[in-house]
Amino acid sequence: MTETASSSPVTAPAGAAHSQVYTWEPSNAAIAARYGLRPDDVLRFDTNTSPVAPGLVEEILRGLFDPTLNEYPDSAYAGLTNAAAAYAGAAPTEIVVGAGADELIDLVAKAFLPAGGTSVIPSPTYAMYGVLSSQRAARLVSVPRLGPDRGFALDLEALLPRLAEANVVWLCAPNNPTGAPEPLSTIARVLEATAVTARPPVVVVDEAYAEFSTETAVPLRDRYPNLVVLRTLSKAFALAGVRVGYAIAARQVIERLERVRPPGSISTVSATLGAAALSNPDVARRNARRLQEEAAWFARRLEEAGWPPYPSVTNFLLVRVGTHEAAEAAADRLLRHGIVPRTFGPANPLRGHLRLTVRTRPENERLLSVIAP
Ligand code: PMP
Repeated sequence: MTETASSSPVTAPAGAAHSQVYTWEPSNAAIAARYGLRPDDVLRFDTNTSPVAPGLVEEILRGLFDPTLNEYPDSAYAGLTNAAAAYAGAAPTEIVVGAGADELIDLVAKAFLPAGGTSVIPSPTYAMYGVLSSQRAARLVSVPRLGPDRGFALDLEALLPRLAEANVVWLCAPNNPTGAPEPLSTIARVLEATAVTARPPVVVVDEAYAEFSTETAVPLRDRYPNLVVLRTLSKAFALAGVRVGYAIAARQVIERLERVRPPGSISTVSATLGAAALSNPDVARRNARRLQEEAAWFARRLEEAGWPPYPSVTNFLLVRVGTHEAAEAAADRLLRHGIVPRTFGPANPLRGHLRLTVRTRPENERLLSVIAP
């Protein structure tokens, strides 16, 4: 439920958080046991997934599916790779697939972050960049974004001078947990600035929420061979449990990622489901539009209830509750009703906020009924 991010320009020593264990969200069963509920009563507002897989899984299971499960998957994942390439508008040689975007973040760290290397992370952002960089014994340089009044935009004045020392720079477009888009012009400015450094760092643009955005950095890979774009099927495609993601980059970067990729981390079942989903992307696009419409309604109702959300293009809303204590009390009240928000610890710049996934209308209404009974 709690996302970690640091608050000020912090330069952590290499390997400082190496032994830290990243805790996945507590299960529905654990939350139900703690609050005396039935597991079926627990609703996840903390994971930014989609509430339903709109017909896709049924469709696949009905016809398409003839996997050979007694054998290992094709370690090149040709079917999945070709489907991702066609969807993303890239060549199959410019794609590497992984068990979710998280595995690709790990592969980037493995390939491009030597022990003692430097990860530059504008924050607040997705916690796994810091977690997986720390596991490589890298030095973390956290560059605070501009404040809420400036839409949590990248602070280019603070960021650009740090690029020369970076091995990897982590951008997230749109950004989690703020929900704000990262303008392509800003991403291009960062890439342009890296091009004139003596040793250009790898620039990751995490497009986990790509289908909620009107822009993509994918076409920039021709001009900037140090760009890696990450995507996932966990969000608009509503397939978080399937664990499929992919990276798009110039061939020489993909080749480096392939060298550190485990040969069989995606099951045959997941690769088959993922390829089918990517070959039928209208389902995801429709799902994204539907969730954005619901987000607009949910945002209005949250605002009326006294929890103003920041502008978001995504399937989640960052809401301001008040003090850290007020946000903790609100989270506790929601949890007692089986509703799980994403919370932020007392040292996090987003303390006093909650992040809420946009779910179905009846589920969103259930949340609203708890905060404004
Ligand atoms: N990047 C971002 C920005 C995310 O929000 C998430 C999921 N919370 C991921 C990556 C990880 O996605 P996956 O499920 O594909 O590992």
